[in-house]
Amino acid sequence: MSELEKPVVVLGGGPAGLSAAVRLAEAGKKVILLEKAPKVGGISASARWRDFIVEYGPHTYHVKGDWIDDLVRGHYPGELPRKKRMTRMLIRGRTFDYPLKFWQLLKGLNPFFSARMLADFAFAASQNALFPRPDENFESWGVKRFGRTLYDLCFGQYTRRVWGRPPSTLSTRLASQKLHKLNLKDVIVKLLGGRGQEQATYWEDFLYPEEGMGIVWDNMASSLREKGGEVRLESRPLALECRDGRVEAVTVSRNGSDNRVPCSAVVSTIPLPELSRLARPWAPTAAAGDGLISRSLLLVNLIFAIDSFSDAHWVYLIDPHFRFNRFCEQKNLLLERKPEGRTMLTFEMCCDHGDEDWNRPDRELVDLALADCARISGLSRELLLESSVIRTADAYPVYALGFEEKLGVVFGALSAAENLYSTGRQGLFLNTDMHDTIELGIMAAGRLLKRIPARDWYAAAAPYFDYKTGGTNR
Ligand SMILES: Cc1cc2nc3c(=O)[nH]c(=O)nc-3n(C[C@H](O)[C@H](O)[C@H](O)COP(=O)(O)OP(=O)(O)OC[C@H]3O[C@@H](n4cnc5c(N)ncnc54)[C@H](O)[C@@H]3O)c2cc1C
Repeated sequence: MSELEKPVVVLGGGPAGLSAAVRLAEAGKKVILLEKAPKVGGISASARWRDFIVEYGPHTYHVKGDWIDDLVRGHYPGELPRKKRMTRMLIRGRTFDYPLKFWQLLKGLNPFFSARMLADFAFAASQNALFPRPDENFESWGVKRFGRTLYDLCFGQYTRRVWGRPPSTLSTRLASQKLHKLNLKDVIVKLLGGRGQEQATYWEDFLYPEEGMGIVWDNMASSLREKGGEVRLESRPLALECRDGRVEAVTVSRNGSDNRVPCSAVVSTIPLPELSRLARPWAPTAAAGDGLISRSLLLVNLIFAIDSFSDAHWVYLIDPHFRFNRFCEQKNLLLERKPEGRTMLTFEMCCDHGDEDWNRPDRELVDLALADCARISGLSRELLLESSVIRTADAYPVYALGFEEKLGVVFGALSAAENLYSTGRQGLFLNTDMHDTIELGIMAAGRLLKRIPARDWYAAAAPYFDYKTGGTNR
């Protein structure tokens, strides 16, 4: 088989893998996409459970007003429904808008506490202006910008719960991605009765198909097949054969048998530690990938015998007595809020793969979610009709201190194969949203088509590590 006849193998059929594969097929490449699951979509896939759409946290597409929005729209028949984001936070038993509006928080809390928070905030801002210090970790980044009181209230304990580690052991990268900057001047203008500026938020509108986000990925897979590409489900790569600095074949396990697929190049979107294990025989330093940890996710779906709980799409559970991070009322994402007379709340809890929470029986997780429900509103167990639990490994790459150095070593090791491009959220170890993930998939495909060696690809993806787009993961 000549080099030109050999297919490009794409590993992983989530948004990144599918986008890369479609781009390559459009350019006339023969493409074989290997996906270990029985369906495409990765963590952005959807399924139906009873009369509801279930996702691996509910996924909405963030509108950013560019060609990627058009690409997503192009994979949906008709008009993709558009909605305004409605997200809330529960803090000290009260409800606030998300992203956080400092002014609203000041007005909503006990006046003595608010005064302390404001004084602390002003002190931190002045100290930062007069004696600037370098940012060391998530905690120092947050305290420096918000003051201790506001940081502890809104970010400190919540961050520890979500990431399972003290914030002082997490990178400032996470802070600059997750925490919105609050502007002291703006707060003072508002205190003096002025209008100030609205806090900049990155995206306000989202697209969400009435069938769930997964339909976009199903349609992308169909489009790939129409362009001559092949999608092989329930297929896992076992080995990457590398000779003279090029991957020449992938050994694949499918339906209990192994076969060798010769290839001209590989685009991988599978988790980076997994890829680094495949690369280890010819790139030993890829072992640094073992030090890259991802947080797993437990989703508890509860169907209640009430028509509606609230108008919010998501509610963040900030107070420390909650076990779950947030919940979504899935039906609110739809234009037609169906079904009538029942609603489903999906509660999300982070854990480490294989830890006590991961191994907890479903029944116990449902009990914990019901306990959080009781803390919110008194939604009682008697109203519960049905429940289900979903476990998702590798949901959130953990930006622990020093993760960039490990990433650098892994990318350096993988660059030993000039035709192996790792991309996407899992493949670059980035907490990106679907928009950026699609962009990264297509960018990697573009480099491959121009025969740019993979080591230059990692340099091209570098701006995403500085969150050029403002950074958003959900
Ligand atoms: C809880 C949660 C909520 C989110 N909500 C939003 C949201 O509302 N909006 C938004 O824009 N983004 C959201 N995101 C981010 C979004 O999920 C990701 O950006 C996107 O799914 C990443 O796509 P990907 O293709 O890079 O990875 P994935 O979706 O993880 O796809 C990787 C694929 O590779 C497959 N795979 C893994 N290992 C192997 C293997 N060894 N062999 C073969 N295949 C393999 C997997 O099965 C999977 O299909 C959310 C993320 C999380 C965790």
